[in-house]
Amino acid sequence: MAETKPQTPERVQVAICGGGIGGLTMAAILRRLDISYVVLERYAEITPQGAGISLAPNCLRALDQLGIFEKLAKHSQELHEVHIYRNNEFWGSQRFGMTKEAFGYYVHKMERHQFHYLLLEAAGGNDVVRLGFNVNDIVDEADAPYAVVKAEDGRVVHADIIVGADGIRSYTRRVLAEKIGMKATNTIRFTGRVHMSGYTKPLTHLTTKDEGVAHWLLYDDAILTTWPCKDNRQWYIGVAGARLKPGEVPDRSVWKGATKDTVNEVYGERFHPFGKESKMKTIVDASERVTAANVFQELEVPEMVKGRIVLVGDAAHSMTSFFGQGGCQAIEDAVELGNALHEHFHLNDPTAFDRYSEIRQKRANDLIQFSENFAKVHTARLPYGLGPFVRKVLYKYLPTSVWVWYFTWLFNYQPTIKYPLLDIPAGQAASAK
Ligand SMILES: Cc1cc2nc3c(=O)[nH]c(=O)nc-3n(C[C@H](O)[C@H](O)[C@H](O)COP(=O)(O)OP(=O)(O)OC[C@H]3O[C@@H](n4cnc5c(N)ncnc54)[C@H](O)[C@@H]3O)c2cc1C
Repeated sequence: MAETKPQTPERVQVAICGGGIGGLTMAAILRRLDISYVVLERYAEITPQGAGISLAPNCLRALDQLGIFEKLAKHSQELHEVHIYRNNEFWGSQRFGMTKEAFGYYVHKMERHQFHYLLLEAAGGNDVVRLGFNVNDIVDEADAPYAVVKAEDGRVVHADIIVGADGIRSYTRRVLAEKIGMKATNTIRFTGRVHMSGYTKPLTHLTTKDEGVAHWLLYDDAILTTWPCKDNRQWYIGVAGARLKPGEVPDRSVWKGATKDTVNEVYGERFHPFGKESKMKTIVDASERVTAANVFQELEVPEMVKGRIVLVGDAAHSMTSFFGQGGCQAIEDAVELGNALHEHFHLNDPTAFDRYSEIRQKRANDLIQFSENFAKVHTARLPYGLGPFVRKVLYKYLPTSVWVWYFTWLFNYQPTIKYPLLDIPAGQAASAK
């Protein structure tokens, strides 16, 4: 049991539960909208999960507005094309239309820790984060002057608004779901699959012609992907079935973390053009970091706002990570919520949060559906055995112009902060007022 440390409650306009992508983006926005905030993070340090991240045009526009894009561009690699292999057969190169010409930005690939660090810096640094603050009680009574957030260790924060950015197993979401009378307070389900992911050291045998080139390796029993990152580093992801004990119901994988050996067990002998002797093993062996993450999927998106509680990111909606949009959606949420918070605090608009909920719930539902459909095509699991045929036609023969046309709904939706932003001098730490 954690030690109890009662202290004078901290008072802010916005308490952000969770220091992940959504929470830190939210903080970076509030800092520039002159709204006081604090980030409450359960871990003793800000520790991103995962190895790399893909940032798409739909979230890059807002990061640009916040002054983060320029920095991340220095640490990332633009994605220019995807080389697709079916087993060892080269199908061809696809651009999928994800180009700067089409959408204003390329898709950028980078190390996840570096991205997190940039967000933390933009949010105001460690001064605005309360570490080791494991939120385990929220009191939000309609006639009280503020809501109360309590930590396991006795610390208390009083806030006008609570932002639940506490990820897939969100405590905040449970409180909100109970308020709206949802039958099941958590409708996010394990899909039975596990992502194994890693980030390598620079692969010194690669050359400039390998920059910006990703690989999709489509096997019958697995999909393996490598993404190009800065300095010819590679971020790779493989999807494997969960390891279960006989008779066990797959509600969560028993795969607790991964090592190079466990990743190699599944993928080491597979073909990869960058590996020595064309084997994936040499790429895995060059990893600086490997991780395993269960793949979850939302069944029912709850309302995103109730009382003083508002949800963002995975706490609100969870999508399979095959298309890499969960973090981008957390950023989109934070941007739209930043607009709503400005309207609420500075313009006294009583309808601001309803608008937020309406816009974001629709977008989240669209993305969940898209991610699920994409996963089916990508793994060739379509009705009537059509999966392999449809996948081949789409990946091998569909021209870039059709992809650009198709992706317009996803990448041309680029929410921005609608209100004037404070100019924060570089390097200046913020303090939660
Ligand atoms: C293998 C893999 C690859 C992915 N690739 C991509 C990609 O390329 N692009 C992309 O956009 N998305 C990607 N995603 C999805 C993305 O990682 C998530 O959607 C994103 O991290 C969600 O951000 P979040 O801030 O909502 O939640 P999280 O990142 O989960 O952050 C939640 C935070 O809240 C904290 N917290 C939890 N409970 C409490 C509590 N009770 N009190 C205080 N703090 C708490 C946690 O410690 C954590 O810091 C990927 C996911 C996986 C698994």
